[in-house]
Amino acid sequence: MNHPSTIIIGAGISGLSAGIHALQNGFDTLILEQAAKPGGVAATWKRKGYQIDGGIHFHMGQRPGTKSYELYRQLGLHIGLDYQPLDTYLRFIDQTSGRFFDVNKDLKQLSAKADVMFPKDTRFTRRFFRQAAKFKNIDLEMEAAPELTDLKSNVKSVWGLGRAIRFMGPTYNQAIKDYAMDLNSSWLRWIFNHLFLPEVPVWFVLMLLGLFSSNQLHTCVQGSLGFTNALVKRFCELDGKIRYNASVQEIITAGDRVKGVRLANGEELKANRVITACDGLSVFYGMLGGNFMNKGSFERHHKWPLFKPVVMVSLGLMADTRELPKFMALRPDSAITAGNINDSGLMIRFTPNQVQGQDQNQTVLTVMAETDWDYWAALRGDPHAYDKEKHKVCEQVIRICEKQWPKLLSGIEMTDVTTPITTWRYTKNHQGAHEGFLPTPQAVRAQIPRTLPGLKGLVMAGQWVQPGGGVVPCLSSGRTAVKIICKDLGKRFVTV
Ligand SMILES: Cc1cc2nc3c(=O)[nH]c(=O)nc-3n(C[C@H](O)[C@H](O)[C@H](O)COP(=O)(O)OP(=O)(O)OC[C@H]3O[C@@H](n4cnc5c(N)ncnc54)[C@H](O)[C@@H]3O)c2cc1C
Repeated sequence: MNHPSTIIIGAGISGLSAGIHALQNGFDTLILEQAAKPGGVAATWKRKGYQIDGGIHFHMGQRPGTKSYELYRQLGLHIGLDYQPLDTYLRFIDQTSGRFFDVNKDLKQLSAKADVMFPKDTRFTRRFFRQAAKFKNIDLEMEAAPELTDLKSNVKSVWGLGRAIRFMGPTYNQAIKDYAMDLNSSWLRWIFNHLFLPEVPVWFVLMLLGLFSSNQLHTCVQGSLGFTNALVKRFCELDGKIRYNASVQEIITAGDRVKGVRLANGEELKANRVITACDGLSVFYGMLGGNFMNKGSFERHHKWPLFKPVVMVSLGLMADTRELPKFMALRPDSAITAGNINDSGLMIRFTPNQVQGQDQNQTVLTVMAETDWDYWAALRGDPHAYDKEKHKVCEQVIRICEKQWPKLLSGIEMTDVTTPITTWRYTKNHQGAHEGFLPTPQAVRAQIPRTLPGLKGLVMAGQWVQPGGGVVPCLSSGRTAVKIICKDLGKRFVTV
């Protein structure tokens, strides 16, 4: 090939998307991945005959004709994968009172249900669900890199909000926890805080509910594994190369140009261009030796809050759970005293076991709870104490789940616990922040430059330049990186 050779750091979904687009534009491309397999945080693993999906819950914007659907099509993500619309966004359970609240698709019905359950907050809930309906059929567009857009189109294009731009005022651009603060019902307040994360802006949650109610939130039947494999397949069909267990230690520069990378084993690989699709702080401090950090990137990496890392407890159950909603948020009736866990809300996921195709008689129940990096980092030095703590968390989570689903829990065949240290070990995301920066009102709309002043040939992709991460934003960031390279070369960007 006569084209410049391109190295991509990271075989998560952003790196794979960048790789596919790079190949489609004629760049000889190599992906380097420090782990033994692709996917990054979109991770799956096997335990005792069960396959645990510790990654993507749902896919946004899966409707033919939308920009996000078109992105999936360009990447071959419509071939061999089945997407099923979500019926219940979340079931909220208050374990103490036994009450539950299902968020179903019909927003009018939902509003009427809220009238009955939360009579003192009807003014609030009615307005909220009415506003969510305005986000129906929104077309997600994530091309927000300053390198490709001018100021005017930037403002419009973030999250493709277009006509919903009026929701950017103080009411809907505040964190949902602040917006819901004055609700009379504390149970409803808890529900609002767990519709996504308490820190996200209200408009973001309205958008999610709008998409959900217009059949644009789907689960992928083949799970994170099938999804990642489809990207790898596409990349390899286009003649792309991936090397696993290849940890990049340094990006080699000479003057103002990137020259290649050096691996942890000392090997040097030359390249005219490098796309980083991995942890941001490692890029700045590890790979570039702190040399190209400007005020903006310093501010972000030192001051912006990160996604809170999680403990994930997975249980392999001999049970058919198809009748249950796939995702639930549980407010437990007793505290979890191990693992420094924030037990105010446990996120629960039911997945049919996938080890040999889908087995409807076996289920993986995964409980995700926020915790704290420092706590687990301190335990890491003492393997015995670390394992003991994992065991304690597991026991307490089982106890809570047994109380909730006694019949289901009678047949536990497998248990598995991951901690923020596990996330870090397999993906190198700083402090186990599995989705990078916390999508606060400030962060989620920020347009982070993908190139660095004073360094030619380097473009950044992935969740550390697309705050809050997410499948569509990350896939899009890979495409954006290649568009920037094409623009730089004066070459027309093409896609299939
Ligand atoms: C539990 C969970 C649920 C989620 N649910 C959803 C959802 O429902 N909907 C949604 O849209 N999004 C969801 N997401 C978010 C989405 O999955 C992520 O934002 C996205 O997968 C991040 O991809 P990435 O490629 O940018 O980063 P990563 O997945 O972190 O990939 C980075 C890759 O770089 C590699 N790497 C790091 N350092 C080096 C190095 N020095 N050398 C070589 N390789 C290196 C890592 O090993 C990793 O493979 C979820 C994420 C998680 C964890």
